[in-house]
Amino acid sequence: MRLLLVEDEEGFAEALCTSLKMEHYITDWAKDGEEGLTFGLSDVYDAIILDIMLPKMNGLDVLRKLREQNIQTPVLLLTAKSELNDKITGLDSGADDYLTKPFHREELYARLRALTRRQTDTATPQQLSYSDIYMLQGSNELYCKTSGNSMPLNGKEYQLMEYLLRNAGQIISREQIIEKIWGYDTDAEYNNVEVYISFLRKKLTFLKTTVSIQTIRKLGYKLTE
Ligand code: CA
Repeated sequence: MRLLLVEDEEGFAEALCTSLKMEHYITDWAKDGEEGLTFGLSDVYDAIILDIMLPKMNGLDVLRKLREQNIQTPVLLLTAKSELNDKITGLDSGADDYLTKPFHREELYARLRALTRRQTDTATPQQLSYSDIYMLQGSNELYCKTSGNSMPLNGKEYQLMEYLLRNAGQIISREQIIEKIWGYDTDAEYNNVEVYISFLRKKLTFLKTTVSIQTIRKLGYKLTE
């Protein structure tokens, strides 16, 4: 799970990132509203924890702009007790939930679990499919309807195939793939992406599907028929 934390109080943000890491979340930290918006627009996060009182651009404006750009990442607003009106405005502006500071870590984790579960429920159908291939939720197999063959995918292959299927027919850049699969804070390079793309191509060939991963020169990859 990848999270974005937009919070200007450095000590608080660092402590929160550390404890989120222990809960196995990969968290990027943006220290003001403008940075938060830039990060959020990359659309690589499973959820965003967004403080309201922020330098440069407040959290509610960040939220509004994200929703205007059709970024539907679940947003958990952090509010102070005195910001009750903001809370209401926030929910009206497209926030999914809010938490009043100070809060207990366990409560944050519970809210995050609920938010990301809700997202998975709506965004992941039972079956993720494109043309004659599909993956079933909770299974690591890739199936082909035409040949009746199936192939198991390992962790990174699975994540990459899922990402390609969700964006079938669209070009995905190598940078987007690295961010989505390996995270910002990573040593992964373009080579890693190419290696996994070649693994997936071999599996698609084995499946005898009409679907292939096309390389778009200088731009990235596209799942196509
Ligand atoms: Ca703040």
